[in-house]
Amino acid sequence: MTAKAAEDAAVQLPVREGEDPWTDEEVVEVREELTSEIERMTRAIAAAEAELAELLSEGSVGAGRDPADVGSSNFERDQEMSLASNSREMLEQNQHALRLLEQGKYGYCENCGQPIGKARLQAFPRATMCVACKQRSERR
Ligand SMILES: [Zn+2]
Repeated sequence: MTAKAAEDAAVQLPVREGEDPWTDEEVVEVREELTSEIERMTRAIAAAEAELAELLSEGSVGAGRDPADVGSSNFERDQEMSLASNSREMLEQNQHALRLLEQGKYGYCENCGQPIGKARLQAFPRATMCVACKQRSERR
């Protein structure tokens, strides 16, 4: 086997019945999607944290402020916090998926081991469970 053929074999991803095999371009697209999501989420978290730090420092000098202002800045702070934690969750999912891709385990459901399906992965590159398992886990 040539080095090139070994490389091709390493990126062979599973598909569901009736789906066309992954092309190299499609694999590259999924990888780029994951990588750019990771960058985007990292930036979003940094922005939310900077915003939070600002809100918190405002809060510490806020003695004697109108209670309505305090209420709205608490609201803002809660929003920034949930934004940051959502972004962090998305970041972790993307990093996890990218790791699986690099290990050659990408595309198999982590729960049942069946192929997740190309169509689903192209829509949600960070998916690590098939639709059926995902729905079951959400119902729990
Ligand atoms: Zn499954």
